Amino acid sequence: MSILDNKLALKAEIDKVAEVAGYLWMKGWAERNGGNITINITEWIDERMLALPAISGPIAIGKTLPHLKGCWFYCKGTQKRMRDLARDPMGNGSVIRITPDCAHYVIVADAPVAPTSELPSHLAVHDYLLAKGSSYRASLHTHPIELVALTHNKKWMEKDAASRMLWSMIPETKAFCPRGLGMVPYMLPSSVELADATIKAIDDDYDVVMWEKHGVFAVDTDIMSAFDQVDVLNKAAQIYIAARNMGFDPDGMTDTQMKELTDVFGLPK
Ligand SMILES: [Zn+2]
Repeated sequence: MSILDNKLALKAEIDKVAEVAGYLWMKGWAERNGGNITINITEWIDERMLALPAISGPIAIGKTLPHLKGCWFYCKGTQKRMRDLARDPMGNGSVIRITPDCAHYVIVADAPVAPTSELPSHLAVHDYLLAKGSSYRASLHTHPIELVALTHNKKWMEKDAASRMLWSMIPETKAFCPRGLGMVPYMLPSSVELADATIKAIDDDYDVVMWEKHGVFAVDTDIMSAFDQVDVLNKAAQIYIAARNMGFDPDGMTDTQMKELTDVFGLPK
C-alpha cells in the first residue's frame, strides 16, 4: 500500500523526480547523499489526499512562510542518496503538508522519512516563487562537476562572465538556459545567508544559480525542466574544457551570432 495508489498524476510527478535522481547519479553529480530536490505538489492534491492522516506530529520549519499555507511538497529525505531515490522515491523521500500556521509541517507519506536538512531554504524559495506569482514548482540542488570547477577561478565568478562563455559554446545553451547562470560567492552550506543570496539571485531573474566551489541551485516549472537547464549549461562547460584539452582556447560564437539567436528565437535580452 502506498499513498500514491490510484493517484496517477501525482505518482507521475514523483516518478519524474526519481528519473532525474537517476540522471544526477549517472552524471556523477550526486555522490553519497549530495544534492536535494523539492517539488510543490499542491495542484495534484485531491480530497482523498486531504483525508489522509499525518504520520508525524507538527515539525517546526524554523521560519514562517506565509505563501505556503495549505501547500504540499515532495522532498528528498535527509541523508538519503539520489541513486536510492531513483529506485524507491517513497522510501527515500517524503510528502509533507504545511500546517495552517505556515511555520510547521507534518509528514503524510508511506514511511516517516525526515525531509532534507535543506528543507527551510528550499521552502523559502518556494514561498518566494508563489509570492511572485511564478509558475515554477520545482527546485534542484546538485554538484555538476565542470560547472563547479569553473567557480574555482575568480574570473568566472564575475557577473555574467560564465554565462557569456557558456552561451557561446553551442547555440542551444542560450536557447534553453536564456537567463544564464547567476553567481553566488562561497557561503556556508545550509546557512540562512546562502538561502537569502540564492533568492536574491533568482529575483535578479536567474533560473540557475551557481554556489561558488559547491554546486548549482535551479528552479523551473517541473523537475525535468530544472534538470535540463543545468544539463545544457554543464554540457557547454564540457565543450569549453574539451577545447582547452585539445590545446587551444575556443573562439566561441561571436556577439553578432549570439544577438541574432536572441532576436530570432525571441529570447530574454
Ligand atoms: Zn551541496
